[in-house]
Amino acid sequence: MNFSEIFRDIFPLGVGTKHEGITWEYEQVREYLISLSSGPQNLISINDYPQVIKLSRHWHEILDKMRRASQDGLERLSFIGARDDKLTVQEDFIIGEPHRIPSKLVSEAIRRGRRGTETEFIGTIHSHPRKRLERDILWGLWKERIHHVAGFSPKDLYPFTVSFSSYRFYPEYLAMVVEGNGVVLSLRTQETETAQINPELVSQVAFDSYWRQKEKNDIHLNSDLEIAKRHNLVFYRANIGECLSRIPLTHN
Ligand SMILES: [Zn+2]
Repeated sequence: MNFSEIFRDIFPLGVGTKHEGITWEYEQVREYLISLSSGPQNLISINDYPQVIKLSRHWHEILDKMRRASQDGLERLSFIGARDDKLTVQEDFIIGEPHRIPSKLVSEAIRRGRRGTETEFIGTIHSHPRKRLERDILWGLWKERIHHVAGFSPKDLYPFTVSFSSYRFYPEYLAMVVEGNGVVLSLRTQETETAQINPELVSQVAFDSYWRQKEKNDIHLNSDLEIAKRHNLVFYRANIGECLSRIPLTHN
């Protein structure tokens, strides 16, 4: 796994000048993410997250590189890590299948990434290829789910629902998904640990089928947004190249 320092440039890329509420400049974002590599005690409260997050130009370049790579119809995955007060990214993306990244590939990549590096994993970026996005739009129109704003599958969000004390795979503080030109960021909060967890949904398979069934039963339900509400996650979205805006959610 080829990790390189990224996201170093302090001048964020962002269009749109009207930002409602508090904005985190890129340097704040960077410092916060690096602090998470020391452990969940550094997570901030759901109420302390800003309305707008600025990412660096290099970060947007990585997102765009992933968007372009995924035009072959296959998902890509990359790990974000921290090492020596630097934020790092895996530049050689893991290549998955059209609708998933096999977990064998992921665990192999983690094993290789940990070997010989001091990198602490803090999260992932992965893509949903354009072909799939188009299919989802058609599906969404058919279901009249016109307000579908986020893009995570229940499986993508599963690691956020598991407590740090019981989840040993890798700590997921943040996840980003690239879908076409759009990007959604999910961040864990202090309150995620204390969210009510249904004991029947502790396995990923059970969690996935529970939420997929709920979506089937209710055409207006967006499982990603409901999972964020229940597990006290914060979501941001933007087009690649823009500042990320917080998606308003009423947390339980
Ligand atoms: Zn996904």
